[in-house]
Amino acid sequence: MLNLVLFGPPGAGKGTQSQKLIERYQLVHISTGDLFRAHISNQTELGQRVSKLIADGELVPDSITIAMLEEEIVKNPEAKGFIFDGFPRTVAQAEALDRFLESKGTAIAGVIALDVTEEELTARIAKRKAVSNRADDDSEKLKKRIEEYFSKTIHVLPYYENQGKLAKVNGIGNIDAIFGEITDIVDRLKN
Ligand code: ADP
Repeated sequence: MLNLVLFGPPGAGKGTQSQKLIERYQLVHISTGDLFRAHISNQTELGQRVSKLIADGELVPDSITIAMLEEEIVKNPEAKGFIFDGFPRTVAQAEALDRFLESKGTAIAGVIALDVTEEELTARIAKRKAVSNRADDDSEKLKKRIEEYFSKTIHVLPYYENQGKLAKVNGIGNIDAIFGEITDIVDRLKN
């Protein structure tokens, strides 16, 4: 299996690059943000529990997030591999993911971190707000999401760096050029 984590702050381009990666490598894309939004729009019990946290730009508790993610992996027994997008966002999530994949006889092959400055992020999300109807794309909520990233999520980077799995890619520039850098890394991981 080829399991990848696409890592980066809100607005780094994880969603865009994930779409291109699943086409190229036929992997199953798991975005915890998309899964939460589906629960919210379907008004499931889980959706009702998390909707305020998400609207406020706060992280959903690990126990809820990890259980939802594991369920999604189990739903795809035929997958050639997964692209995890927006997960893990805490070290506890990263540890849980390692344990779970190990129990399935597999592991994370590599982590691709999109590097984008805070200034660029704020500008991008302001633009996205104009076309999206995500409740968490307004500037106060975005500030909170970026804060959550720099206080909790950033610690996931050294976790993978210590495992020798981290590759950084400059996330500013032409989308296809960034994709080219990512595929160079993925192709090396495959061989
Ligand atoms: P972005 O990367 O653009 O901020 P996502 O779509 O990945 O957005 O996530 C949206 C929201 O969903 C997050 O702000 C958070 O509230 C919640 N969320 C998504 N993934 C996780 C996760 N792994 N752990 C905790 N909360 C999460």
